[in-house]
Amino acid sequence: MPGPTLLWFTHNLRLDDNPALEAALDAEQLICVFIVESSWFRANRYSLNSLGTHRRAFLQQTLDDLSQRLEERGQRLLLWHDTPLESLTRLVQQAKVSRVITAEHPGHYERHTLTQLQSRFPHLQCEAISSQTLFTSSQLPFELDQLPESFSAFRRKIEKKKLEPNRPTPAPEHLPPPVTGLSDKVTDLPQPESPSLFLGGEAGAQKQLDYYFAADLPQSYKETRNGLDGWDYSSKFSAWLANGSLSPRRLWQRIDQYEAEVLANESTYWLKFELLWREYFQWYGMRFGAKLFKLQGPFNRAPLTSFYPERFKAWCEGTTPYPIVNAAMRQLNATGYMSNRARQLVASAFVHELGLDWRYGAAYFEQQLIDYDVASNWGNWQYLAGVGADPRGHRKFDLDKQSKIYDPEQAFIDAWQGKEHAHPLPNRDYYDWPVA
Ligand SMILES: Cc1cc2nc3c(=O)[nH]c(=O)nc-3n(C[C@H](O)[C@H](O)[C@H](O)COP(=O)(O)OP(=O)(O)OC[C@H]3O[C@@H](n4cnc5c(N)ncnc54)[C@H](O)[C@@H]3O)c2cc1C
Repeated sequence: MPGPTLLWFTHNLRLDDNPALEAALDAEQLICVFIVESSWFRANRYSLNSLGTHRRAFLQQTLDDLSQRLEERGQRLLLWHDTPLESLTRLVQQAKVSRVITAEHPGHYERHTLTQLQSRFPHLQCEAISSQTLFTSSQLPFELDQLPESFSAFRRKIEKKKLEPNRPTPAPEHLPPPVTGLSDKVTDLPQPESPSLFLGGEAGAQKQLDYYFAADLPQSYKETRNGLDGWDYSSKFSAWLANGSLSPRRLWQRIDQYEAEVLANESTYWLKFELLWREYFQWYGMRFGAKLFKLQGPFNRAPLTSFYPERFKAWCEGTTPYPIVNAAMRQLNATGYMSNRARQLVASAFVHELGLDWRYGAAYFEQQLIDYDVASNWGNWQYLAGVGADPRGHRKFDLDKQSKIYDPEQAFIDAWQGKEHAHPLPNRDYYDWPVA
């Protein structure tokens, strides 16, 4: 008889429309595990944390929600605290696991773990199943190594084929029984101080789905999406999509349903358009692996850059000479969220005004964002730094002009005290200048 199946939950933290979970339903016995990585609590190569307080709270709520749903079906979620490779190795050995299933991940490191596990246990059946994308790799109208180098070319290929995501499937009512006698290696993530705007888990995702469509917000998305402050100007689904407590196919299906039952217009199309951006970056991460984190990006376009610690600090804390940047960074630090428009402006300032190495900006976003997603974050940063999927080279925004367009009354800047905290750049040259 084969040994139990191990389902390694990563960024697919839900029961609804979860292909990795569905693949495990035929197991005689099932072990469900989430690994709290020790590296999340140590400084990374940028001297930052990979998991900041906002996402930590959101993740804890998500795991509580997932645990509860599994328990209602006679299962339990093990939380192990170690490196994924060591945790999986010990579980495979202890429980004599014969098959490991996980969601396909755009992160190079996560995919590498599975390869290493496979080489430690050549007879183990290891499967990574598309669970976080709209399409599966076999649906794509090209091989992954032929992924178009720009989003527009990708979108045109998808739209030309009239490609539609497969229908989402509901959460299973029954699950295979757990393996008894396996202990957790960690109880809970340390709790952060303040409650978040976002409620973690499938319950939170469902609540936002119900709210967003019932309030008829999709029909004005295209006009409102460049807002800077508030809840309703954009969909806010990114946080749940990022850790997988919401399935992208479920969201797409809700937009389809809205279009069929209420209204289809440019705005509803634009919401899908943005989900295609997300889709593009997921495949971009899968195609380019470790190059996602490289200064010169996947296409070897070395940017001119430098590093000034004081400027980096000023950007992180929101004390640059640019009020709009300060407001956005202070909003990010306080809430874990920043609008898409502001993300573009602060990234442009980081690269073009402050002359900093874009990877530090991406790493700071990784720490602070509640919706941090490896592919969307590093892919967007590469794009803005001119080393990624942008045929136009780099994107430099005129901060004054953008402030006038998107914050004409300065309501956003005032709300987050962007002007009060505007200071001239600390200039290193002063210190080195010979003074008589
Ligand atoms: C420098 C930079 C870093 C970013 N880092 C992340 C990140 O770590 N995680 C993340 O989810 N998004 C990231 N984005 C993309 C985008 O800013 C957020 O997805 C969006 O602001 C989230 O808010 P929303 O859900 O209300 O978006 P909406 O405007 O309502 O869009 C709907 C959905 O479309 C997707 N989407 C929209 N714009 C983009 C985009 N440019 N790239 C990829 N997907 C997109 C998201 O899944 C989003 O939830 C980044 C953008 C920039 C410029």
